[in-house]
Order: sequence, then structure tokens, then C-alpha cells
Amino acid sequence: MNKNLVSRLNVIIKRLDAYFGRPFDHRMNPASVLDVLIATKLSQNTTDKSSFKAYTNLKKKFKTWEKVADADIDIIKECIKVCGLANTKARNIKLMLQQMKKNYRTLDLSFMNEYEDEKIYAEFLQYEGIGVKTISCVLIFALGRDAFPVDTHVHRVLNRLGIAKTMTPVKTFELMKDIIPEGKKYELHSNLIKFGRNICRSNNPLCSVCFLYDFCRFKEKKLFRKRIAPLKTAENNFIILENI
Ligand code: SF4
Repeated sequence: MNKNLVSRLNVIIKRLDAYFGRPFDHRMNPASVLDVLIATKLSQNTTDKSSFKAYTNLKKKFKTWEKVADADIDIIKECIKVCGLANTKARNIKLMLQQMKKNYRTLDLSFMNEYEDEKIYAEFLQYEGIGVKTISCVLIFALGRDAFPVDTHVHRVLNRLGIAKTMTPVKTFELMKDIIPEGKKYELHSNLIKFGRNICRSNNPLCSVCFLYDFCRFKEKKLFRKRIAPLKTAENNFIILENI
């Protein structure tokens, strides 16, 4: 393990923690495994508000995931059309629920509490449309584990900071899972998303106010430092996963 990389990462974790604080502890009130799986699938390529609306529409209409598994696909699409990609998402959700019913003879997946993390990754990767990011969310929000979902914000920020030199979020996930200190994965994930949404933004990073400027390896940071942009906090961080 690269000691210099780990020590830089530890300082970054401390500074993020000092600025954003510790995230909400989900172990006190965990959601069900299927709630998190479906909420995370709905949240792909859309806003938090839209995916939350789609999720609540589904819940109101069907009450249980068993009913969604047997539902007419057009009614599922109608419920979730607010969050985009409704055809693909409706098809994948229904197919996944039907396959799970067949594989486990139940849609109560609380037995996963007994599984090790690696077994849960292996189990869910067999379903179409479920990747390591979604499974990591299940580990955190439903099973109270410490995991590190890597979305576009997390991937971008870690590459700009020079902690990762990777082309895809999946590669970043593979790199990071072994170097984050014990018990710090979810905290780092949560704070990197807030940092990526509010400061190290994709198109217009706020390098002029960045508290990680001295650590950053982003080539254009000097250019962006000259641009004084207002520090505006993005709303609705994690609305769906914190409200299901
Ligand atoms: S200096 Fe700029 S590019 Fe680097 S981490 Fe901070 S906001 Fe992002």
C-alpha cells in the first residue's frame, strides 16, 4: 500500500470532516434492502427530487414490492415517468423483482444481514442494472455497513485530487476500497458528494474558496482560482436515500 497516498487521504478525510461534519447514522433506522435497491435504481441519471417523486408514486400505487413484481409494466412506467428512462427502469425493476421471487421465494431480503459484504456484492451483481455503486448503497442504508459508493462526483473529485488516476467510477471503487481507513468509507463518500456538488463542481469548480487547494493535482486549478464565484449550497443532498 502506498503510504504517501494513505497519509494524503487521511488529511483530506479530516478536512472534509471539519467542513461538512459526520453524516447521519443510518444504523438507527435502516430501510429495507429492496427499498434501497429500487430507490437507487430510480436515482440513476436524474435529480434527487424526481427520483424521490417516482419512488413515492410507486409506493403509493402498489404498497408492496410483491405487487410491483406482478404489475402491468405500463402502470409501473406511468408511476416513474417523472424520473426519466422510465422504459428501461420499469423493465429492469419488474424483471429484478420476478427473478428475486424465483431465486429466494420471498422478497423479504433481510436474510442478507447474515451475509458478508463480498457475498452481497456477488449475489446482487447477477441482476441486470445493478452495479457496485447500488450494492454499496444497500450495504450502508439497509444493512448498516461501512461502504464506499462511487458516483460521478466522488470519481471526479478523487481524480482531481490525485488520489485516483482512473477512467471509470468502477475502477475508482476498486482502488479505494482497500485504502480508506476502517470505519471511514461512508463518511468519506457522503462528504465527497457534498464537496463535489458544492465546491469541486464539474464545470465550474470553486478553487478560489477550496480548503483542499494545496492538495489538489488538477491542472486548471490556478485558472479557476482567479474566478470568484459565489459559494452556493446545493439543495437536496441524498433526499431519496435519507427519506425512504
Ligand atoms: S482546488 Fe479546485 S479542482 Fe481542486 S479540489 Fe478544490 S475545487 Fe476541486
